[in-house]
Amino acid sequence: MKRLDVTAESPVSRTRRARKMYRVLHDTYPYARCELDFSTPLELLVATILSAQTTDVGVNKVTPTLFARYPDAAAYAGADREQLEQLLKPTGFFRAKTNAVMTLGQALVERYDGEVPPRLKDLVTLPGVGRKTANVVLGNAFGIPGLTVDTHFGRLVRRFGWTVLDDPVKVEQEIGALFPRKDWTMLSNVLIFHGRRMCHAKKPACGVCPIARWCPSYGDGETDPEKARKLLKYEMAPA
Ligand code: SF4
Repeated sequence: MKRLDVTAESPVSRTRRARKMYRVLHDTYPYARCELDFSTPLELLVATILSAQTTDVGVNKVTPTLFARYPDAAAYAGADREQLEQLLKPTGFFRAKTNAVMTLGQALVERYDGEVPPRLKDLVTLPGVGRKTANVVLGNAFGIPGLTVDTHFGRLVRRFGWTVLDDPVKVEQEIGALFPRKDWTMLSNVLIFHGRRMCHAKKPACGVCPIARWCPSYGDGETDPEKARKLLKYEMAPA
């Protein structure tokens, strides 16, 4: 298969191609969702902060005990630092993370009655919460569409030729304009799934990729189907 040339692509063609690729990825990962376990906005906010520099699977091992012991923002605000550090140790950078969740708890208690605010402009004022984390929480815990421009998302949209930009805020705006708002959260989730499972940073598995014919980066990775199949990473069971 030949690599698609998109150098002379019009904006309309790019939008059509992007939506087609999204539909195929959606069919490939219909069960894509945020892979952090949570049952409340606060739990997702804390889990997202803990996921820095580690895997969601690693965070999910720690959070059942954490959430049982610290059921609300006040509990984090008044936590015994040493006990919390011990609990967070397996997630790495545990001193910084302990500090982050304690100051987050304090800010929520002082400014929002202990509740997680459901607005981007409020969320990003909280300590340790950037746009990416805020959009994860809005999209997955509040059902408010958000684009989560994390490392996978940024790498994939550049490989797809949907953008040439690097700045996450500009990427968010440019990709947001290609899709209806209602698709933003699922788009983020399917791209992150594809990045984790197939379109890896080092060696993408191009030979088994369902969107290869629309991808201008086809061939950056392994194109032999047999070899490509061996590169696939863990697959989560459908929820
Ligand atoms: S795996 Fe290869 S073909 Fe598929 S999206 Fe990534 S770079 Fe493109």
